[in-house]
Amino acid sequence: MSERVSAAMAAALAAVQAEQAVDAEVDEAVRAAAEILADADEVVLLGHVNPDADSLGSALALGLALHERGVRVLVSWGAVDLDDLPPESLLTLDVAQLLVRPGAVPAAPEVLVCCDTADERRLGLLADRIAAAGTTILVDHHASNPGFGDVRVLDPRAEATVVLIRRLLDELDVPLDPEIGACLYAGLATDTVGFRIGGPGPHRLAAELVEAGVEAEPLMRVLVDSHPFAWLPTLGGILQAAELEPGVRAGHGLVHATVPHAVVEAFRPEEVESVVDHVRTAVEAEVTAVLKQVAGDRWAVSLRSRGAVDVAAAAVALGGGGHTRAAGFTRTGSRLEILAAIRTALADTGRT
Ligand code: MN
Repeated sequence: MSERVSAAMAAALAAVQAEQAVDAEVDEAVRAAAEILADADEVVLLGHVNPDADSLGSALALGLALHERGVRVLVSWGAVDLDDLPPESLLTLDVAQLLVRPGAVPAAPEVLVCCDTADERRLGLLADRIAAAGTTILVDHHASNPGFGDVRVLDPRAEATVVLIRRLLDELDVPLDPEIGACLYAGLATDTVGFRIGGPGPHRLAAELVEAGVEAEPLMRVLVDSHPFAWLPTLGGILQAAELEPGVRAGHGLVHATVPHAVVEAFRPEEVESVVDHVRTAVEAEVTAVLKQVAGDRWAVSLRSRGAVDVAAAAVALGGGGHTRAAGFTRTGSRLEILAAIRTALADTGRT
């Protein structure tokens, strides 16, 4: 055997061993988390700030399972404002009324489960509960997550956090039912962009969920296909003002659009968050940025990539985080300063 061949074999073997080590670590964390949850009397489950279907779906799926076992369960999310209301479209998932406003989360929960939270800051005003809780369990799939909490079910290979929640439910011997299934399906379908991202795993899980009684069409219609009529001309105006910069990132191209503060105030997050899915269809651009003006000089920015550029790296450089193809950050400055910062971050980071 040539030296080059044996070096390649050694590298392949090392990669397999590294993968097995991660598998063993995640398995162990799932077992440890299930043990804690099986003994708990009170569990608080939190999604991240501006919660999406994967974060609240994860919290509600596990919350429902524990509630059915007689555990005292509260579900909430990282607060920007303690009186925040949950996204209207996700209320249908909360069949047992487990959701409470962030202000109602106890100061020191017995067990705290942080779902889909890429770092502690993603819990906003509730970040202090991590240290105050008796035990904190993290369940997440963000590669940019530095890890926090006592037990960390953290696996960036999972297509959605709900995939890891499903493993926890298995470990707890919880059977899938239509209500828990709907929570899992909501996170799975949205984080995989309608099953476009990921291998056969999400499709297999979807099949199991449908077999368990989940009705995908009415669920997804409420989650992603429902907007007020007034949204249509507003979206038209936003798209009309979108700009294409073909030269950014050595010709990969950037397309960007801006959602002014008045629009952020007038519409639900469901409308505002849907803008990026229209803008990202511009084939001339590898990278999409949508700048949402959350306050005068405060911007929440969504980044998307077609795959050749790692937008998580750019987002981390700008103080945020996320996944290779979908990431975000929040930053203060003028619109032009934010755009300049995005161009710089794209030029400097995440070459794949
Ligand atoms: Mn997620």
